[in-house]
Amino acid sequence: QEDIFKNVISHAKEYGFIFPSSEIYDGLSAVYDYAQNGVELKKNIREYWWKAMVQLNENIVGLDASILMHPTTWKASGHVDAFNDPLIDNKDSKRRYRADVLIEDYAEKLNIKAIKEVEKAKTRFGDAFNEQEFVTTNPRVMEYKAREREILERLGRSLGNEDLEDVKALIEELEIACPETGSRNWTEVRQFNLMFGTKLGASADTAMDLYLRPETAQGIFVNFLNVQKSGRMKVPFGIAQTGKAFRNEIVARQFIFRMREFEQMEMQFFVRPGDEMKHYEFWKEARLKWHLSLGLGKENYRFHDHEKLAHYANAAADIEFNFPFGFKELEGIHSRTDFDLKAHEKFSGRKLQYFDAELNQNYVPYVVETSVGLDRMFLAVFATSLKEETLEDGSTRTVLKLPSVLAPTKAVVLPLVKKDGLPEIAHKIVEDLKWDFNVGYDEKDAVGRRYRRQDALGTPFCITVDHQTIEDQTVTIRHRDTMKQDRVKISDLNSIIENEVSM
Ligand code: ATP
Repeated sequence: QEDIFKNVISHAKEYGFIFPSSEIYDGLSAVYDYAQNGVELKKNIREYWWKAMVQLNENIVGLDASILMHPTTWKASGHVDAFNDPLIDNKDSKRRYRADVLIEDYAEKLNIKAIKEVEKAKTRFGDAFNEQEFVTTNPRVMEYKAREREILERLGRSLGNEDLEDVKALIEELEIACPETGSRNWTEVRQFNLMFGTKLGASADTAMDLYLRPETAQGIFVNFLNVQKSGRMKVPFGIAQTGKAFRNEIVARQFIFRMREFEQMEMQFFVRPGDEMKHYEFWKEARLKWHLSLGLGKENYRFHDHEKLAHYANAAADIEFNFPFGFKELEGIHSRTDFDLKAHEKFSGRKLQYFDAELNQNYVPYVVETSVGLDRMFLAVFATSLKEETLEDGSTRTVLKLPSVLAPTKAVVLPLVKKDGLPEIAHKIVEDLKWDFNVGYDEKDAVGRRYRRQDALGTPFCITVDHQTIEDQTVTIRHRDTMKQDRVKISDLNSIIENEVSM
């Protein structure tokens, strides 16, 4: 699995999808740049989301709020006081960890031990093996599982009560239980605020401390009444937004999964108090359907319902995706109650109420939120699409089987040779198609190598112009996934491509 992940990262760089930021200065940790093909793929994911959320829903509208907001916003939202991660340093290795991640890693180790016991038994007993029975009766497996559960529960309790000493005690106990993991020389656990600070204004005494937003949601909440009034929106309605968010993450690893500067796609749905669970269930299903519509495989998604809830939520679930390093959060669906709007009322002194004409009543709406990381979506799509295939003749090819609607380039036009007027015809085809699709042109190298290059870039179609084209105005069109080639009329190209790539 580690190898697969390494492949993903190097493919992203080699084929112009993602570069480390400021690479000539050795990069900046957990910050990345989207390159010529990456920016197209990312844009297409954003548009696919926008279409599903805004264009197809009469009662959802868009917004593009600023990254910089009045600093009181973050007092009201709770981010100044509570947007913390517990941090611990190892004095020997001088390495810094997120204490909760460290503990979860230990718990995962126990889970792996349990899985290994099961695997061992499976090979020993063969066909007669009943996994369900084994897991529920084998004392060793039961012990590992129980310990894992106990660790996670205790971690949840300690974090919930902000009992940082117990978090540290838990780490020390686990190190004794797993001696293979080494040193026991830790600092205290400290809370670390994840917001990036900056300053507005030039002179020292008038400058104002600001934050780069750690989520896009608050820009929606503070504009709730502006949008409702100017758009004459009726509850239930939603406001959707995509944009950058910033978090000074302690453990920044796993490529674009956890970045310090990233992009979110969020939608806040404003509902009648008391109706929130109905809408929460609706959006959970709707969002999963959206993911499944990309065809990356049903088995790669699962729900994780939260037992421990954030201070603002009365229900929460993650859609987890099977990344190259295991199932992890891709999207969150949260029932946020009236926490945010009420808090903004309190801190701003303004009323953020809605008059419900049907009920003849004023109230602060409840909110159901869907929040997905654009970069995580990118990683999910990119990593799952990257395949190494062995062909019938024994050779191999690398192919990026992206959903066609998301592919950066939809088709590339290739003259078979660089003479006899073929390049001119190919250019003319590009000229005609480029108004509707992102298309490319390539005349370098043998045509087989050009096909392979487009496979690796995820281009769904290669259109080849040959000598027959001059005679009958037909070309071959090669399909990326099947490598099948059809002879078609130039005049039909537009509709053939349209059929496959339209959103
Ligand atoms: P995690 O538990 O992984 O830190 P979170 O629960 O803090 O995530 P939310 O605050 O719910 O995440 O943010 C919503 C979405 O934004 C997440 O589901 C994820 O897709 C994305 N996201 C959050 N933090 C990052 C990050 N540092 N880099 C990239 N995407 C992120």
